[in-house]
Amino acid sequence: MAPPHACGGAVPSESMGAEGRLATIADEVRDCTRCALARRRTLAVPGEGNVLSDVLLVGEGPGAREDATGRPFVGPAGQLLDELLDSIGWRRGDVFITNVVKCRPPGNRDPEPDEAAACAGYLDRQEQALDPAVVVTLGRHSLQRYLPGARIGGVHGRLRRSVSGQHLFPMYHPAAALHQASLRDTLFHDIRGLPSALLTARATIEDERMTAVAAQSVAASVLGPQPVAGDAEQMTLF
Ligand code: URA
Ligand code: SF4
Repeated sequence: MAPPHACGGAVPSESMGAEGRLATIADEVRDCTRCALARRRTLAVPGEGNVLSDVLLVGEGPGAREDATGRPFVGPAGQLLDELLDSIGWRRGDVFITNVVKCRPPGNRDPEPDEAAACAGYLDRQEQALDPAVVVTLGRHSLQRYLPGARIGGVHGRLRRSVSGQHLFPMYHPAAALHQASLRDTLFHDIRGLPSALLTARATIEDERMTAVAAQSVAASVLGPQPVAGDAEQMTLF
């Protein structure tokens, strides 16, 4: 299937908005001192990728190589991630990649809950700017953010709705497969389901949008004439 983003033609002004907003968030992350991870980082890792993508990948936190370069998934786990994307004909430039925490936890320990909480606002804003059809969670910590209490063994490789209604595609963390060889096959098997999960998510989003528009017009006919929406608002409705 085609890569999960718009390409060719003029860049719509909405995407310029996303690009600018993501750049602003990245600048704030690079200077952030909201949690203790700031003190021992070399570089913060805001995330990177295609600002037009419909797919957001969310890992756990930067490792050594990410900390040294300021880029997500550029170490051994990143190499496996590239192979996984390649196996479905996608590239890193087709998706947007970031992490739950943007600074490296010392010795690659798990992020503490207070660190994830301090950092959550950046990921919230990245999601709002990108408005992805699917969020691919990589590993437990990322899954936890969207589906608290879910066990990765029970939910990986299938489309789910998050508590706030986002379409999730949970996967094991690529780094886990570097320690446990059997997970490698699971990862390659699971990612094969991602393109069709994306199509399903897009179709559901469109159905729900149409249902909302229909409900609005029913409400409008019941309520009688309403103030006319501005042009910009009408554009987003139709
Ligand atoms: N592991 C992660 O969770 N994120 C990275 O960016 C690299 C390794
Ligand atoms: Fe700020 Fe997040 Fe880095 Fe903590 S991990 S210092 S909250 S950017």
